[in-house]
Amino acid sequence: MKIGISGAGVAGPTLAHFLLRCGHEPTLIEKAPTFRTGGYVIDFWGTGYDVAERMGLIGPIRERGYQVEEVRLVRDDGSRGGGFGADVFRRMTHDRFTSIARGDLAEVIYRSVEGSAETLFGDTVSAIEEDGTRVGVTLESGGSREFDLLVGADGLHSRVRELGWGPQQDYERQLGFYVAAWQSTGYPQRDENIYVSHAEPGISLSRFSMRDNRTLFMLVFSTSHLPGEEPQDDAARRAVLHDVFGGAGWEAQAILAELDKAGEVYFDRVSQTEVPEWSRGRKVLLGDAAACASLLAGEGTGLAMTEAYVLAGELHRSGGQVEPALAVYEQRLRPFLEEKQKAARGFASSFAPETAFGVWLRRVATRMMVIPPVADLLIGNSLKDDITLPDYGMV
Ligand SMILES: Cc1cc2nc3c(=O)[nH]c(=O)nc-3n(C[C@H](O)[C@H](O)[C@H](O)COP(=O)(O)OP(=O)(O)OC[C@H]3O[C@@H](n4cnc5c(N)ncnc54)[C@H](O)[C@@H]3O)c2cc1C
Repeated sequence: MKIGISGAGVAGPTLAHFLLRCGHEPTLIEKAPTFRTGGYVIDFWGTGYDVAERMGLIGPIRERGYQVEEVRLVRDDGSRGGGFGADVFRRMTHDRFTSIARGDLAEVIYRSVEGSAETLFGDTVSAIEEDGTRVGVTLESGGSREFDLLVGADGLHSRVRELGWGPQQDYERQLGFYVAAWQSTGYPQRDENIYVSHAEPGISLSRFSMRDNRTLFMLVFSTSHLPGEEPQDDAARRAVLHDVFGGAGWEAQAILAELDKAGEVYFDRVSQTEVPEWSRGRKVLLGDAAACASLLAGEGTGLAMTEAYVLAGELHRSGGQVEPALAVYEQRLRPFLEEKQKAARGFASSFAPETAFGVWLRRVATRMMVIPPVADLLIGNSLKDDITLPDYGMV
């Protein structure tokens, strides 16, 4: 089959990888002009890790990844107020855990299909027409394509979902936070393999030292701190970050100075996606476009890869029967994804506590996690994936 995939992030190239193994012809359509590496650092584990293993990519993923040793919560003066050793993650996942820049993970996956899967960079779907057996796609660049199936793997703000299901706001559940992230080079404070974070009521600032003298910064604030309307462009977003974090302690001033020098800054609402049906006719959603669990789940990339694996597998198993395959794909995964989304929502209040007491309590609670059984109990459950990957024989 000819399969159009909107979005060459994490889910899209993973799907292309397995489709190629099954003899299909995937075409990736990516709005960015070239492949984007770097970005924020994510934790990678769970069924996504298993999928990466089946793709033969664990070696390069671990090579580009980081083995975090500690999550450290610091006070205003930088002294350690709480946190825990990250060995709990390795213990609970049997060392099947790594942290890696999202774009680096996406690149490792993309390189496995580069040259075999056609990729249209700098383009996007502008209209979709479906006649029951074929999906006609008009591209913003002016061209058009015909596919047997069109996949929306284009993230939280999916274009395919907008065109095929309806406007973003109908499918977005906002969790009450904004997040900004960027990388800088040469930031003087470094703590190798330690995720350092400082929280004040409703806000948090974190940094992680990376290779080549780079540092990742991540700023989170609750919606109640937004000074006015949601900022619509890069300059307005940076101004909001100055407003919200300008009075904060710890390294806030130095971090805002880095923001002023930074190139691309990621800034978005922290949201989940809830779509009542993941497929319509020969259009199907995948990854964040279908069921974003948000950064609070700490597993979105792995979930996106799991969805891609199951979608390719069900298409393979059904022997070309597209619509039944799409139905089984959703039946298999929807309860699992809904559970992940629910757990992420449950974590929201401790993610960026709104009161000074909440900030203090979080520091104290995490201190108890130096005791391994306590850490295993508190974190272990959230690291479990209650799903077994079927074996589809996609070799
Ligand atoms: C700050 C932050 C921290 C996170 N931390 C973690 C973590 O620790 N662990 C974890 O596993 N996950 C984490 N996540 C979530 C994770 O990044 C996502 O769940 C995951 O990337 C989803 O993959 P995807 O392929 O569905 O979407 P994306 O990775 O977002 O890829 C979508 C792709 O589609 C492209 N695109 C968008 N619009 C269009 C269009 N109109 N036309 C064509 N292409 C388009 C984009 O350029 C992009 O390449 C975090 C997310 C954030 C924001």
